[in-house]
Amino acid sequence: MKIVIIATTLVLGSSVLVGCSSPEMEALEVDDLEPRINGETSISGCSAYEASKINDAVDYLVSTLDSEEYSECLADAIPSGDKGDTVEDIIALLQENKPTAIRCRDAVCGSSSATGCAPVGINTESLDLQHDHVQSASVAQLAGTIVHEVMHNKGYQHFLPADGWFEPDDRFRVVRQAQQCVSSGVPWGLPRSEAPGDTELARVGGNGGAPFELTCPGDGVVRGMQVDSSSRFVNRIRLTCDGGTSGSAGEWKDSRWAYNGRCLANQVVIGIYGSADSMFGQLGMLCASEDDVIEGVADIGTRRWLGGLSNVGHEFERTCPAGMAVKRLYGRSGARIDQLSVVCEEYPVSPRGPNNPLAIMGTAVGDRRVDRCIGFGAMTGLWGSAGGEVDRIGARCSPTNSSWLNGAVYLDESAGYQSIEAFGGQGGVRFGLGDGGSDQCPAGAALIAARRSGSTGRADPRGVRPC
Ligand SMILES: [Zn+2]
Repeated sequence: MKIVIIATTLVLGSSVLVGCSSPEMEALEVDDLEPRINGETSISGCSAYEASKINDAVDYLVSTLDSEEYSECLADAIPSGDKGDTVEDIIALLQENKPTAIRCRDAVCGSSSATGCAPVGINTESLDLQHDHVQSASVAQLAGTIVHEVMHNKGYQHFLPADGWFEPDDRFRVVRQAQQCVSSGVPWGLPRSEAPGDTELARVGGNGGAPFELTCPGDGVVRGMQVDSSSRFVNRIRLTCDGGTSGSAGEWKDSRWAYNGRCLANQVVIGIYGSADSMFGQLGMLCASEDDVIEGVADIGTRRWLGGLSNVGHEFERTCPAGMAVKRLYGRSGARIDQLSVVCEEYPVSPRGPNNPLAIMGTAVGDRRVDRCIGFGAMTGLWGSAGGEVDRIGARCSPTNSSWLNGAVYLDESAGYQSIEAFGGQGGVRFGLGDGGSDQCPAGAALIAARRSGSTGRADPRGVRPC
C-alpha cells in the first residue's frame, strides 16, 4: 500500500516523515497507557506536561465525538474530500476502537512550522505532534489537531497534486471541517443551517446510480411520500405535494409494498430518517405543523415510516432548519434508491422555481455529478485545471439575500461562502487561484455567462453588480 504522509499546515514540507525528537525530550518520555473509549492512547517523546495535555485533549476529543453537537456541526458543514462518505460513516470511523499512538517531535513531516503529521490510509491510528504546538495550543485546539491527523489515518486527504498546489477550497476539506467542529464547534464557510432562503442537508446513502431530482411543482411543499420497497430496500420514491406529485426516482424492482405516506392535515414534511449504507434499509419522514414552521419553532410533530424493514448501515436523521419545509429531494438511483439529499425552503415558500439544467458541454464520459449552490446562491468563482480540455473544475458559491427581485441578485457576502468540490483529473494548467484570482468575480457580482468552444466548455465570469 502506498502511504502518503501529510503535514497539518498550509505550507507543506517534504512528504517523508522525519521525526527528530530532542534528547531532553527523550529523557522526559512518558508512557501513558490509560484505557480510552476508542482504544488505548500511547504517548511517546513528550514531556510530562505535554503528555498530560495530550491526555486532556484525547478526553476532550472522545467526549466531543460522542456528542450530538458534534454530529450536528459535521452535518452542518459543507465538506470537500469526504470520498462520498456520510457524516455517520465518518463519525463511526473516528469512534473505532483502535489504539492511538501519539509522538511529540521537534519537526513533523520534516517541517518545524507544521503542527501535526500522519500517514494516510493506514489500519491504525498513529500521528506526530509538534512540541511547540502541544505546549501553546488550547486543549480544544490540540483535540482538533489530533482529529485532523486521525482523519488522515482513516484515508481522508487534502488534494495534493504533484506540483504541491493547494486548491482554494482546502479549508473546506473534511479533515479541516472535522478539526474545526472539534476545536470551535462551528464549521468553515457557510453552514447549511444558516443559508438564507433554501438549503441542502447533508446527503445520506451511497454513491451508486445516476443523479435525480424530485421537486414539488409551483409554490408547493412536500406533504407526503409514496415509497415502494422490498423487505430489505427502498426501491422507488415519489413526492406528494400541494396540488400534485413530483416525478419518481428508482424502480418497482422486487418491491412487495407500495406505501402512500402522508403527514397529518396542516402538517408539512421537514425531514427524513431511517437507516442506510449504500442503499436505504428503512426510510421515514418527519412532519411538523405548519404553524410551528411559520413561527420558526423547531419541533418534530410526527414520524411516519415509509418503507424498508432492514437495519443496514447507520441510522440517520435529517431535519430542515427552523422555518423551512422540504421542497425537493436530490439523490442518486438505479433500480433502487442509492442516495438522498433533502432540500428545504423557507415556508411559506419564496419559491426558487424549478431547476432548468442546460445541455452538458462536451461528451458525457466517466462519472456524472451534480452540485448546486445553497442559500438561493449564485456561483461567484471557478477553479480547476485545463489544457485542450477541461481537466478539473470546482466552484465557489455566495448566497443571495434569498430573493431574486426583478432579476437582480443581491449577494450576501457576510454569510460566508460555499465551496463546490472540484471534480476531474489532475492534468492541465491551473486556473482560478481563489480569492482575488483571475476567475473570481468581484464582490457583489456573480457568474452570468459561459463561453464554449469545440467539445469543451470554459466559463467566462462576466459579473454584474447588483443594481
Ligand atoms: Zn492535513
